[in-house]
Amino acid sequence: MANITRDFFIGLSNNHFLNSQAKKWGFSLGADKFVAGTTVDSVLKAVKKLNAQGISCTLDSLGEFVSDKTEASQAKEKIITLLNEIDREKLDCHLSVKLTQLGLDIDRDFCIENMKEILRTAKQYDIFVNIDMEDYAHYDETLEVLEDLRKDYGNVGIVIQSYLYRAEDDLADLKDVRIRIVKGAYKESEEVAYPDKTDIDLNFLALAKQRLLGDTFTSIGTHDHHIINELKAFAKENNIEHDKFEFQMLYGFRNDLQNKLADEGYNFCTYIPFGDDWFGYFMRRLAERPQNMNLVMKDMFYT
Ligand code: FAD
Repeated sequence: MANITRDFFIGLSNNHFLNSQAKKWGFSLGADKFVAGTTVDSVLKAVKKLNAQGISCTLDSLGEFVSDKTEASQAKEKIITLLNEIDREKLDCHLSVKLTQLGLDIDRDFCIENMKEILRTAKQYDIFVNIDMEDYAHYDETLEVLEDLRKDYGNVGIVIQSYLYRAEDDLADLKDVRIRIVKGAYKESEEVAYPDKTDIDLNFLALAKQRLLGDTFTSIGTHDHHIINELKAFAKENNIEHDKFEFQMLYGFRNDLQNKLADEGYNFCTYIPFGDDWFGYFMRRLAERPQNMNLVMKDMFYT
């Protein structure tokens, strides 16, 4: 049953018609619990609030699978505006971007040029930019684009998904790159990804421990307290300095745990999505945790 529900919401997240219609609906279905508004002003307000609590942020100007050059260029311009504002307001904040928003499906060179413009501006302000990992169909190309960008820019990192069998090998090739480790949010075939949650969790722990013992900064992106507790104990046993890693969670999820980790002295970073293109992101969150449906029901019946 859990798999059927997951597949259903992932199917909705990929539906082009619904994604484009949702932009016209404005915020609905309880999406505002997980998305910090639609404008740069609204997301900066959320960042300031979290920074005041000792929490760093990474911002995702929502959008993906763009098939039109004008739209991809507009997305790039919005991201550059965001960088200017982060610097102007001196916020503790970096960026998360998706290559398919910046034209990867249209023309790879065009996407790389967009990324270079973003990285040039970010470098000038000493801001880090993380490339989110999307579905497996874009996996190799995403790694190749990263390699290309890293020839000129050191302020760029990537995400590794523990559901992929090849994650360990790829992580070994990325020793010097800042990485976020996550479980993986897309529906992938058993040919490339572990179907079983236990294997995904065990792989997550193995990958994270390997990184913690290395030299490069790692973000641990999960809401799973079992994993977080085990990694806290591992860091303590192995005298791993807190400045070598951070925990990351999504905006609106487990706020109590987010604050607790920050209060305990761990580096903590909240991933904040914002913008009109909220539908696909929101459906993936429902796929991961059907309990989030409660918020949808409340919104439908009580507002
Ligand atoms: P789950 O496996 O969903 O949950 C494990 C256990 O944790 C649950 O059984 C429950 O006990 C507890 N738990 C989880 N959530 C809650 C809650 N809200 N309240 C109470 N208990 C809870 N995926 C990608 O594919 N690419 C990306 O670039 C990417 N970036 C991400 C960035 C961040 C910061 C985060 C946090 C996730 C990102 N993801 C990304 C999504 C990720 O791959 C997972 O799909 C998502 O995080 C769900 O897995 P989980 O590790 O949080 O734990």
